[in-house]
Amino acid sequence: MKLENKTKAQLMKTADEIFSLYIRERDQHLCLFGLVLNDPCAGGHQCCHAISKGACSELRYDVNNAFDGCYKHHMFGWHGRNPLPYTDCFSKTYPMRKAYVDKVFSEYKKKLAEGVEFRPTKEYYIDKINTFRRKLKELKNATASDF
Ligand SMILES: [Zn+2]
Repeated sequence: MKLENKTKAQLMKTADEIFSLYIRERDQHLCLFGLVLNDPCAGGHQCCHAISKGACSELRYDVNNAFDGCYKHHMFGWHGRNPLPYTDCFSKTYPMRKAYVDKVFSEYKKKLAEGVEFRPTKEYYIDKINTFRRKLKELKNATASDF
């Protein structure tokens, strides 16, 4: 189906899929938690968000807010009962990115409180799909030429 003919919900789903593929490829399919905590990973790899998609839609497709995590560490660690060691993985490995996403998030909340809501259009999602398709292709080409 042509992107233009998709609904906004379908475009968001496609954009999420492409973005997730890009992030996992960028991170070389290595789970941040497995690396930092030196704990064995399990399950397929996923795209994790430092600030959740539900909390801040503005950071949904921000490369600084996303990283690779395996199913086990993402679902039962990061989103588990004792998330601190997992949230620490992100903030201690990427202090600059942590400071950046916190700043964007706090500005986002301020705008929300003032009644200014971030409302992505179909064009917004199409732009994200095209952008991350291109970046994924560039990344794969760069990797292939290393050998
Ligand atoms: Zn893991």
